[in-house]
Amino acid sequence: MHDDAANHSAFERAQGVLPGGVNSPVRAYRSVGGDPRFIASAAGPYITDVAGNEYVDLVCSWGPALLGHAHPAVVAAVQEAAARGLSFGAPTVGEVELAEEIRRRVPAAERVRLVSTGTEATMTAVRLARGATGRPLIIKFAGCYHGHVDSLLAEAGSGVATQALPGSAGVTEATASETLVLPYNDLGAVEAAFAERGADIAAVITEAAPANMGIVPPAPGFNAGLRRITAAHGALLILDEVLTGFRVSASGWWGYETSVLGASFTPDLFTFGKVVGGGMPVAAIGGPAALMDQLAPLGPVYQAGTLSGNPVAVAAGLATLRAADAAVYAKVDATATHLGAAVSEALSAEGVAHRVQYSGSLFSVMFGEEAAASGVHTYAQVQASDTFRYPPFFHAMLDAGVNLPPSVYEAWFLSAAHDDVAVGRILEALPGAARAAAA
Ligand code: PLP
Repeated sequence: MHDDAANHSAFERAQGVLPGGVNSPVRAYRSVGGDPRFIASAAGPYITDVAGNEYVDLVCSWGPALLGHAHPAVVAAVQEAAARGLSFGAPTVGEVELAEEIRRRVPAAERVRLVSTGTEATMTAVRLARGATGRPLIIKFAGCYHGHVDSLLAEAGSGVATQALPGSAGVTEATASETLVLPYNDLGAVEAAFAERGADIAAVITEAAPANMGIVPPAPGFNAGLRRITAAHGALLILDEVLTGFRVSASGWWGYETSVLGASFTPDLFTFGKVVGGGMPVAAIGGPAALMDQLAPLGPVYQAGTLSGNPVAVAAGLATLRAADAAVYAKVDATATHLGAAVSEALSAEGVAHRVQYSGSLFSVMFGEEAAASGVHTYAQVQASDTFRYPPFFHAMLDAGVNLPPSVYEAWFLSAAHDDVAVGRILEALPGAARAAAA
């Protein structure tokens, strides 16, 4: 089936003009090897590369494509908006509608500021937390990725982990010293940090359910514990839902954890991205009016963007959220459960020690005896797992027409368009991939 020459020559050409041939590092296949597939088109659960090979896609644009690729209602909304003008640099009613839709789903987001990327959202949330508290320090957790914000790159997961970097060159020591990096799922470490430096800590930022070191769910009570500790010390809690927001439930991980898992907590600030733009560049910060109104123009914390609330991007986001009803979430949940079990069965049949870890409909495979025995709860455990089993597994799936994330440190993403035919193709590919992982 595979003609890889077209992908190879596209990659060669790309490397002559784009650093590493890509515009975002994980796309370069550095941790799995081989040539990245250059994508020509996508529809529903499938993507097609420049050689004409079609793959069932379990990347879904790293999250946004909750409805599947090129969903007709989203494409129509974009075409209609584009015909009315691409960007005005002035407010539009569409922005108001999108903000209202976000607030309807997450009522604690009383006020919403739209930006273009998840990175901008977390960067703004951190600035707002520092502005509101007058304190310099931020706590983040090892293995959590919050975008390429200077102060949040230390021990970040995702591409930083894929490249095996501790952080990034170009981040000054002064900036790095204002971030405290703690082990995930360890409230004792958070208590200790606050006991020592609490008066200087502006905020704790955490992925609502980490998905950038593979899937590492929050232990029961972890997010609520962060809420309790931050509140006790006058610091803010920033729940980064860029990846989980409007994907794992209609109201994100926060909605899932509070209504399905029975937790009770409300963060000060939420950050959203990915699904909220439906495949176009939209992200958002949400929180209580008194806090959000400290942003310019009402308050002293500056934030702005030429393309913020872009009308075409907002149209894609609105159409996506309006189509993402209960049936969509139920379908994606059911597919995730079915597929995760099938992955596990195939690996077990080949004697590969592993555990499939879930956060709602997001899942990934952790390899190794320790993972199989007691699960993976921290970034250090992910790094100590049998990550070497992933590249052969990945390539066997790719050769069989299934596009997995090209790194073990990423979540697998499903869409409501993954029907029985698409899932059937994944199921057919699994035994061979499990054999490759066992070798
Ligand atoms: N926060 C989380 C949890 C993410 O997963 C990501 C991206 O993967 C970001 C922030 C950054 O978003 P963006 O890539 O849109 O800048």
